[in-house]
Amino acid sequence: MITSSYNENRVIDSFPVIVIGAGLGGLGAACQLVARGEQVLLLEKHNVPGGFATSFVRGRFEFEGALHELSDIGSEDNKGALYRFFERLGIVPEKLKFKQVPEFYRSIFLDGYDVTLPLGMDEYSSKLIELFPNEQKGIEEFMEMCKAVLAGIEYIASQGGKFTPGDVLKEHPWLPRVAGITLSDLYEKFFTDQKLMAVLSQLWGYVGLPPDRMNAYVFVAMLIFYLKWGAAFPIGRSHSLTSALVEAFERFGGVIRYNALVERILVENGRVSGVELLNGDIYRCNAVISNVNPICTSMKLLPQEVVPNEYKKKIYTPEIGPSGFSVYIGLNAPYKELGFSVHETFINSTYDMNHAFETFRKLAPPEYMVAACYNHIYEEISPPGTTQLVLTTLQMGKLWQNVAPDQYFQIKDEIANKMVSLVEQTISPDIRDHIEVAIAATPLTYYRYSKNIEGAIYGTTQSVENGPLLRLKSRGAIPGLYQVGAWTNFGGGFSTTIVGGRIAAGMYLKDKMEKKW
Ligand SMILES: Cc1cc2nc3c(=O)[nH]c(=O)nc-3n(C[C@H](O)[C@H](O)[C@H](O)COP(=O)(O)OP(=O)(O)OC[C@H]3O[C@@H](n4cnc5c(N)ncnc54)[C@H](O)[C@@H]3O)c2cc1C
Repeated sequence: MITSSYNENRVIDSFPVIVIGAGLGGLGAACQLVARGEQVLLLEKHNVPGGFATSFVRGRFEFEGALHELSDIGSEDNKGALYRFFERLGIVPEKLKFKQVPEFYRSIFLDGYDVTLPLGMDEYSSKLIELFPNEQKGIEEFMEMCKAVLAGIEYIASQGGKFTPGDVLKEHPWLPRVAGITLSDLYEKFFTDQKLMAVLSQLWGYVGLPPDRMNAYVFVAMLIFYLKWGAAFPIGRSHSLTSALVEAFERFGGVIRYNALVERILVENGRVSGVELLNGDIYRCNAVISNVNPICTSMKLLPQEVVPNEYKKKIYTPEIGPSGFSVYIGLNAPYKELGFSVHETFINSTYDMNHAFETFRKLAPPEYMVAACYNHIYEEISPPGTTQLVLTTLQMGKLWQNVAPDQYFQIKDEIANKMVSLVEQTISPDIRDHIEVAIAATPLTYYRYSKNIEGAIYGTTQSVENGPLLRLKSRGAIPGLYQVGAWTNFGGGFSTTIVGGRIAAGMYLKDKMEKKW
């Protein structure tokens, strides 16, 4: 049995459980645990919480780093599960407030096709029927299927883990069906019009795979959550959301240390016994919940000899998903004068999403991107008379690892420039005259900040083979170790990683009660 050696004199303290990383998965787990009375130490390598869920300042603009539309919040008379969790933590309604996004998204294609889709199940489906009357029957049946999937999700959530796969199959057959096919396979049962499928699929970039490869469950669940509970944005950006979570964590007695980079997870007799920081400080514990991606947790933080081969196979088999490429732009004119009429606009050069996805595998300008104009929902997000615009597309991080340093800025500028051109062509012809600040972030930027492998922003791909049923779960490589974050459970995203954190906390509590280790 492996036991790590360490310097006894450097032991600072001891906690029952330590969470490594204050990203959304780490925060979800840490808050759930302290709310259940656990003593928790949360260690974060940066000097702020949030991981990707953060903001940064350039010139007179404070840019939102990631969030476009937050799902699962809802309203006072239709509260989403995430809102109810925040309520239990005592951070809503007073400490954290939200702006509601009035419309779902605008979808623009370079051939001039331009539509705006509303939120709300009935409103969304009526608009699709108005746009594609020949597909009315399919649209109605598709929406009924979405509602059936939601009923299945709500059933599982209400059972507290006490259900059998047979119960789900019998009562909610759509749920396992959609989890085993691609989105394109699902569409085949309802639609024939390619344009309808392209408009309906606009959120595919939020998952990172085109419909031919994406797990249908992931898309349907995302769509139906937005339609039922709307889309929201936290006042103060995602930084205020993560700060509110930290405030709740500390109020419940949790301890957080910033600038605390964990270098090693210590092991005693084959199970977790503590962590060692880069500066040599040691904290002892019975369990670790890691928000560091599972490959680094297992192959870098743990002594490799303790990681079972079966577990290595599990973490290396799924394909790593895309990273992001964003251009954060501060404009010196109000958004209305610049032509922005909605918060979230998808700009497409093609209806062929497989083709658009292929551009993410090249160091080439995108054929699909999203322009988020925050002032439309949140006037005060930038100084009076200005606009905060963020253009985002996806890129495979691996490509960027091979870019020569002297090529980096040239490629980055070319792609950013083309993304601005797409806005110029479709929404705001004079945009270039008003750019006061513009910063581009590449997969290398996202890697440097988060240390996620290849800068992946959603973890491993959400394909049929790696959907929520088969995806890596929270129990980690050795007893006493749990994994949270985009690489596990329900994948990348704000609400999904917070929920995944809560699931891991539940597993820890169950294992502790059953004296599993
Ligand atoms: C440009 C962009 C746009 C996005 N848009 C949306 C959106 O609109 N909606 C949505 O739902 N999602 C969106 N996402 C995705 C979402 O932000 C992520 O999937 C999610 O935040 C990932 O959370 P995580 O728990 O996996 O942790 P991460 O964000 O990866 O955080 C991990 C944390 O661990 C810390 N850490 C790492 N190593 C160590 C160590 N050794 N010691 C101590 N600490 C460590 C890191 O500093 C970090 O704080 C977007 C992401 C990006 C980048």
